Amino acid sequence: MMTRNEKIIIIVLLLIIMVFGMLIIQHTVFNSPSDNSQIRQTLANNSDDPGTVEVIRNIGNPNGERIAYVVGVHPLEHLTHETLVKLLPNRTDLKNCYDIYIINVTEGVGHYGDGLDNYENPGRQNGQNLAYKYVYPEILNGNYSMAIDVHSNIGAYPYKTFVFSPAKDGLGVDYAREVADNCPNIDDYAPDTTTSGPFLTEPLNNNGVPAFYFEEYSFAPQDVKDSHMMELIDAIDNLDI
Ligand SMILES: [Zn+2]
Repeated sequence: MMTRNEKIIIIVLLLIIMVFGMLIIQHTVFNSPSDNSQIRQTLANNSDDPGTVEVIRNIGNPNGERIAYVVGVHPLEHLTHETLVKLLPNRTDLKNCYDIYIINVTEGVGHYGDGLDNYENPGRQNGQNLAYKYVYPEILNGNYSMAIDVHSNIGAYPYKTFVFSPAKDGLGVDYAREVADNCPNIDDYAPDTTTSGPFLTEPLNNNGVPAFYFEEYSFAPQDVKDSHMMELIDAIDNLDI
């Protein structure tokens, strides 16, 4: 016969086993790659800034490599940014774990055809400053395998849809080349200079986080933007990291 104390100990042990079992089941079911553990958070919302910064975390497989996308550095290029934010969080078949940093410039955004060309648009510098102040430190300290800064252009380059790293060599360059190699509609082309590089992709590359740009054509039809973005998403997810 068991003593009363022995029975109590066995009951407590069974309860502990049940609780751990439920936790394991919950972890397996709710953290599977197809499940949605995404959260959207505000990183910065200060009245003395020219905009706000948000992040959507945990898109894809939480056990995969962590990869950061950044959108909104140049606010006029928002149609391409919105394309990523529309498509990536709805993918259920990803191998890696993605966070999208979203910069929402509210001052000096302007519009195409307002007399300022894209380079004189004051929203660009506002976005670059928000990127350096809030997004750069998060990515630098966030255990990311790489970062992709998403932009668009008005067609002044020899290619309209392309990837490149502003670094001379290193993993950022290698990843961009491999992505272009695996995308029939995305070229590998590096402009001579970038205005935003010093605020995000250059310091990331210099401090151990491989980083490269994706450039889309600003005036491509939306269905073309969608298909190019899907090519990019797949090629990045299939990189040998
Ligand atoms: Zn840009």
